[in-house]
Amino acid sequence: MASDYDLIVIGGGSGGLACVQRAAGHGARAALVEMHRLGGTCVNLGCVPKKVMWNAAQIGHALADAADYGFDLTVGRHDWGLLERKRDDYVARLNGIYERNLQSRQVQLLRGRARLVGPRSVQVGEGTQARQLSADAIVLATGGQPIIPHIPGAALGMSSDGFFDLAARPAAVAVVGAGYIAAELTGIFAALGSRTTLILRHEYILRHFDAMLGEGLTQIMREEGIEVVSAAVPRSLERDAAGSLRLATQDGRTLGPFDALVWAVGRAPSTRDMGLEAAGVALDAAGHVQVDAFQNTNVAHIHAIGDVTPHAGLTPVAIAAGRRLADRLFGGQSERRLDYANIPSVVFSHPPVGTVGLSEAQARARFGERVQVFTTGFVPMYHALTTRKPRAQMKLVTVGAEQRVVGIHVLGAGADEMLQGFAVALRMGATKRDLDDTVAIHPTSAEELVTMR
Ligand SMILES: Cc1cc2nc3c(=O)[nH]c(=O)nc-3n(C[C@H](O)[C@H](O)[C@H](O)COP(=O)(O)OP(=O)(O)OC[C@H]3O[C@@H](n4cnc5c(N)ncnc54)[C@H](O)[C@@H]3O)c2cc1C
Repeated sequence: MASDYDLIVIGGGSGGLACVQRAAGHGARAALVEMHRLGGTCVNLGCVPKKVMWNAAQIGHALADAADYGFDLTVGRHDWGLLERKRDDYVARLNGIYERNLQSRQVQLLRGRARLVGPRSVQVGEGTQARQLSADAIVLATGGQPIIPHIPGAALGMSSDGFFDLAARPAAVAVVGAGYIAAELTGIFAALGSRTTLILRHEYILRHFDAMLGEGLTQIMREEGIEVVSAAVPRSLERDAAGSLRLATQDGRTLGPFDALVWAVGRAPSTRDMGLEAAGVALDAAGHVQVDAFQNTNVAHIHAIGDVTPHAGLTPVAIAAGRRLADRLFGGQSERRLDYANIPSVVFSHPPVGTVGLSEAQARARFGERVQVFTTGFVPMYHALTTRKPRAQMKLVTVGAEQRVVGIHVLGAGADEMLQGFAVALRMGATKRDLDDTVAIHPTSAEELVTMR
């Protein structure tokens, strides 16, 4: 019997939208199932609203620096509520654009929760509203969600999802976590005027990045007045008689009072209650869907992309995996797949971090004595006049006599916009000599990457 569709994609986030639209472009009869807002985490609870808040924080820093450049400014209060409303209006406009894009590409949008009820069958919705649909291929693109720790009182805190519900700026806030989301939210709160505490399990933030980045950013955070509490493992969260939050740590400290606390302690894949176990889809210990290099699961005709897989949880990664999968399944490109090596990424901290390739530690573990590292640290020219003096730091990690660049790591203003082009160079196999032979652009911070000794 013919299937209802050639393709059903479960999850209308970055990966699912990219995959289903590319498939439709190749002529596939395609449907997308989404139970919340179109656009997924990135558009609604991630990259997009986060970047709006980061932009506001950048303006906060510029206002703080303005007097050093001769401006006589009196800055009133920041209206967090107005920013929230404008940000949410923008996101709502994007939701609408995504829906219209699906219509124009003849993708059927099915609203509701999806679960597998057979190797080629999907149930959409619950109870009497439920309907069953079949497809020749099914793509799991259900993303992930924030983890809330299992400790007493944890629900008194909020996740990054809750951050985007805040209607007003908390006067005193704690962010618990050491990953990029913790770094970003900490910087936003602090720049917009909250008394901000960052609570780390270890000594530095960004422990999964090159050590220079985390150490440098942690130091800058301290210099900018953020209280960084290290070696703190949360034991319980309580509300005191005055209504403030207090965090107890395993070594007996009590941190606070805080008006709000954000858990930024990681994300878990959305794979529960989806019928995956019954369908025999293999998951790893953390619940991610296991895939091969072509995004195939262990069950024929079922594929997975994006944050629901163990690969780097980034929007362009989910998009690239989704488009390439659609090209392979419906575009006649049988070898098309995403190469997960050398994926660049940016942390929108203050200042930002840009990184691509191997950290120094990873390179030394892989290439040993053949690794040579070049570093530089400086106060960017913009800060020559300002009271704030956050230092920029850069590192090139090279391998072998030819000094092939295998890692580029930047902490400092402009790193976010600087790194994309350097990532192309790294991917193309650039050597240190290639960078040295490139004429600098002056005066910039980026020129330091091509003038390192
Ligand atoms: C605070 C924050 C900031 C971030 N910032 C960045 C950034 O700056 N740059 C970057 O590249 N990445 C960033 N990310 C990561 C990025 O958002 C994700 O990597 C990306 O959204 C993953 O896309 P996806 O398609 O795999 O999943 P998602 O975007 O999470 O989409 C999954 C969709 O599936 C739906 N769904 C789940 N289960 C079902 C079901 N059973 N039935 C129907 N629908 C279902 C969900 O409702 C959701 O809409 C950020 C994430 C967070 C949380």
